[in-house]
Amino acid sequence: MNERPHFDLVAIGGGFAGLCTAVRGAELGLRTAVLEAGTDESYLCSSRWAGGIFHVSYHDVKLSPEELLAAINRQTSGETDQELAVAIAADAGRTVDWLASHGAAFTQASPIGWHRFTLAPPRLPVAGQDWQGRGPDRLLSELRQQLQELQGRLFLGTRAASLRLQQGQVIGVTAQQNSKMVDVSAANVVIADGGFPGSAELFRKYIGPRPDRVLMRHAGTAIGDGLKMAADAGAALVGLDRFYGHLLSRDAMANAVLWPYPQIDAVATASIVVERRGDRFLDEGLGGISITNDLARLDDPLCATVICDTPIWETAGKTAQIPPNPQLLAGGGTLHQADAIEALAVVAGLPPENLAATVAEYNDAVRFNRLTTLLPERSTRSGAPKRIETPPFFAIPICAGITNTMGGIAIDEHGPVKRPDGSAIARLYAAGGSTGGLEGGGALGYVGGLIKACVFGLRVAEHAAGQRHRAADI
Ligand SMILES: Cc1cc2nc3c(=O)[nH]c(=O)nc-3n(C[C@H](O)[C@H](O)[C@H](O)COP(=O)(O)OP(=O)(O)OC[C@H]3O[C@@H](n4cnc5c(N)ncnc54)[C@H](O)[C@@H]3O)c2cc1C
Repeated sequence: MNERPHFDLVAIGGGFAGLCTAVRGAELGLRTAVLEAGTDESYLCSSRWAGGIFHVSYHDVKLSPEELLAAINRQTSGETDQELAVAIAADAGRTVDWLASHGAAFTQASPIGWHRFTLAPPRLPVAGQDWQGRGPDRLLSELRQQLQELQGRLFLGTRAASLRLQQGQVIGVTAQQNSKMVDVSAANVVIADGGFPGSAELFRKYIGPRPDRVLMRHAGTAIGDGLKMAADAGAALVGLDRFYGHLLSRDAMANAVLWPYPQIDAVATASIVVERRGDRFLDEGLGGISITNDLARLDDPLCATVICDTPIWETAGKTAQIPPNPQLLAGGGTLHQADAIEALAVVAGLPPENLAATVAEYNDAVRFNRLTTLLPERSTRSGAPKRIETPPFFAIPICAGITNTMGGIAIDEHGPVKRPDGSAIARLYAAGGSTGGLEGGGALGYVGGLIKACVFGLRVAEHAAGQRHRAADI
């Protein structure tokens, strides 16, 4: 790269958010570039590791905008930025069409309706890392190829360090490239660095005290650079204490075959989760994302064990696309088993009498419909709870896995970054995992990382092209 190349639109980060922005911008006549910190041709990012399912709050992306908006509002209990939710609902369908016309191959990866738009080829239904040659990996290559054909640039090994500002207006980026600093001039900059799931410092600041005891269920490359740059430029930051993630075998902390799959969420939400004394301590009925967030906030996030019986293990244990039954054992994970709860407690290292009392109290509450009298209360958002009564019984030590942060930089519905007073920071955008406002809230509502990255990638490019802030203007 020359010392001071000029671009109309520069993306910080080469995941789906950054590449969609750059390709769409180039298509609309902008001189675009992507600065990507990774040095490898297959540079790691969450986009490359994704399961590849495009959905909107677990609904088919081709439903009507009204249906999708209702789904987002249900999932988030209405605690979503309505402008952003409307944007996703309006653009989800045309975004997958745009991707399909730019090399994405979609397949119905399972009988589940909202798996209709899964990038092909999908992951194999086995435990562990399996991203090479899968749909997301292929689509990233396709988008790179198209960027090149449209004369856009992707600079590998180029880590954005700070925004260049002049009188409050963004005029480019300073980046580290091959151990030297370079200034890149840009009429518009989009932060697309994936958020901060990989930053222990920001995790400690916003989420919980022990990031070292939470599984980093992602590529490790989104470390909050963009969040800090945006904050320095005066951006509002929203909802930073919430993240999207899943429950995994505790063995995943030391065994890479046990993550990012199988997830233990369905079993945990159908059963009970106890801490080291054998007591319940959270509401399992709120679902896997909620339990994962609860665990991640603890001083001792590795304290939890799921207790279930055979019917639960044979049903909920087999429901996921990559189910823990049998992938937990196949991946080398711990599944304690015994014919009585006291005996199970002994093998799982839990106090037998207390665990037996906890299970008995829970079973009574289920039998006599007294779930609200339990401490903590057991809600039914994730389904009707079942008694734990049919041997053999099982105990699964679990951990919390953070996939991506839900909060981040505040944007408006076209992607411009907002200040706390709602005004836009001129020529600064954000897209994808780096942004906040759409997801999270009290209900920890999830909308979908892929659709969020791609919808706002396209929107940013289209808005910037509409403004025609060309490099010559600055
Ligand atoms: C295991 C897993 C499975 C998933 N499955 C799904 C799924 O099935 N469906 C779904 O909707 N979502 C899924 N997600 C979430 C989804 O993948 C992400 O939300 C989405 O890909 C985020 O895209 P992004 O472009 O914003 O960020 P990323 O893909 O994280 O890309 C950010 C890029 O920015 C680069 N970068 C970081 N800092 C800098 C810097 N300072 N300068 C330059 N470059 C920088 C990084 O190297 C990285 O390449 C999954 C995620 C994971 C980890």
